[in-house]
Amino acid sequence: MSFQAPKGVQEYVPPRSSLFAQAREAFTESARRACYAPVETAVFEDTSLFVRGVGESSDVVSKEMYTFDTRGGENVTLRPEFTAGVVRAVLQYNLHKGHLPVKVCTSGPAFRYERPQAGRYRQFYQFDLEAIGTEDPTVDAETIAVAYDAYRSLGLTQFTLLLNSLGDQNCRPVYRAALQDFLRKLDLDEDTRARIEINPLRVLDDKRPEVREQTASAPCIVDYLCGDCKAHHDTVRALLSSLDIPFEDAPRLVRGLDYYMRTTYEFDHALLGAQSGIGGGGRYDGLSEDIGGPPLPGIGFAVGLDRIVLAIESERGADAAQAVAGCQVFGVALGEDAHTDVLTLVTALRRAGVRADMAFGRRGLKGAMKAADRSGARFAVLIGAEEKRNATVAIKDLKDGDQQDVAASSAVEWLVNTLAGNGEAE
Ligand code: AMP
Repeated sequence: MSFQAPKGVQEYVPPRSSLFAQAREAFTESARRACYAPVETAVFEDTSLFVRGVGESSDVVSKEMYTFDTRGGENVTLRPEFTAGVVRAVLQYNLHKGHLPVKVCTSGPAFRYERPQAGRYRQFYQFDLEAIGTEDPTVDAETIAVAYDAYRSLGLTQFTLLLNSLGDQNCRPVYRAALQDFLRKLDLDEDTRARIEINPLRVLDDKRPEVREQTASAPCIVDYLCGDCKAHHDTVRALLSSLDIPFEDAPRLVRGLDYYMRTTYEFDHALLGAQSGIGGGGRYDGLSEDIGGPPLPGIGFAVGLDRIVLAIESERGADAAQAVAGCQVFGVALGEDAHTDVLTLVTALRRAGVRADMAFGRRGLKGAMKAADRSGARFAVLIGAEEKRNATVAIKDLKDGDQQDVAASSAVEWLVNTLAGNGEAE
């Protein structure tokens, strides 16, 4: 028998894995420029951290967690999201007692027992960023700008930033009651009716057309925001405009995790179908207290790296992975004793920033050229007895088949310049 990865586990192997790495690097770099420090935190936590932090009534906690008892009898859960664990770590290591806000980011797998489908997996990957310890709306806009710039640096354009405010402990209860009044009058199934009593905002998130139709005229949170929340929201909107970050007001946007308040946002990609959310975030000013810490406002986002890979492929086309990490120059040794020369040249190219590979083993010219073609490289560099004698290398343009001899001493320079001229350099 042969083994397969468990159902719903998303894995990356070449060539797609290069796109995945590029997506993660784009967010890491954007966060680094904004002075967010990298952290690595536990992949599994005490189950009660998520129950208290994410909220018992959320789908994630009530239906989707990978929870088990360890051999020692502790009850643990594979992280279904990052924020609760990151805030736990900030408190545990007393980072909140130093300079505020604490600005950190991380990435890795997260686990939710969901029905696997395109863009929705049980093991998926997030990049997560958190700014903890300030209520300043400027930091809300900063987190959005870090995410926005990362998407843009990946060349993505077909996405929309949806923005809303969920109010706070003063105004949300009033809105919640008004929404419940409205929802109780609708014709809804039993499960949804139960949800009205536990988590009515989530009913607005229901994607079924028959529910959508009925909730279209539901009251909107923006009409219920208290003075402070409204001022906060207006400031975030004004800041985004001055940063040239386009957004849409989404008065019905709610998120799946209970801890959100005030600023809430989502990035939606136009070409991804049902699973179009490529990232989302917001404020969680009460979370620290929920998990036993001091009052500590915070904001952050998590983006789905899997969906970003799908978004890149949908915008850039099927060759996207090759363009990111494909080999640029492929070395071929003609005859036994040219391997040293080829490896030396290939190493010099790599040191000059060129992605270069070579044919290994003893294959004939035909086999080696086949490998060169398959590598996707623009140029093959051939070295045999004759080239050695003349201190040259033969450079073949694999696109148009042209071949020419270049002095061995200037081959690196020639290739670097030609690739740069073709727009193929790093
Ligand atoms: P959330 O933690 O639910 O706010 O999700 C943040 C982002 O993670 C979403 O916008 C998605 O891009 C991604 N995401 C959430 N759940 C999954 C999943 N099951 N599979 C793939 N990506 C996911």
